[in-house]
Amino acid sequence: MSERIDDAALVERFSYIRIDHDTKHLYRGWLEERLLINRCDDCARFHHPPKPICPSCWSSSLTPTQVSGRGVIHLTILLHQGPPAPDVDYAKGPHPVVSIELEEQEALRFTSTVIDCPLEDVRIGLPVELAWIDRFGAPFPVFRPRETS
Ligand SMILES: [Zn+2]
Repeated sequence: MSERIDDAALVERFSYIRIDHDTKHLYRGWLEERLLINRCDDCARFHHPPKPICPSCWSSSLTPTQVSGRGVIHLTILLHQGPPAPDVDYAKGPHPVVSIELEEQEALRFTSTVIDCPLEDVRIGLPVELAWIDRFGAPFPVFRPRETS
């Protein structure tokens, strides 16, 4: 477990993201390369993006919980232009944006990109797993194709 950092240091590490009290646990997890999704202590359902109360039962008792990072592509779009990012070069071709349905719960989705995958192989239903890349000097969660047997 890495050293805990305070809120100010967290905001500094992710200067390109707007962080608030609802989302700070998510980004603290990124620094440790852990994908933490809010889970309700009362009804056990996950939700994402983070909200101050459980959208299912309105409980405010929530625990950021590490998920496996395994899932399948639920939705994919190709961006042909967009804001600059270190790992995105639109001159080399479109940038895939994928919404991953995580295996922990039906309709629990996390949006990012997919790496190590030719564009023609990016398709709905493709099994993927979590991977981490560096973005602006901090870990950033992405997905790559997963071997299934
Ligand atoms: Zn709940």
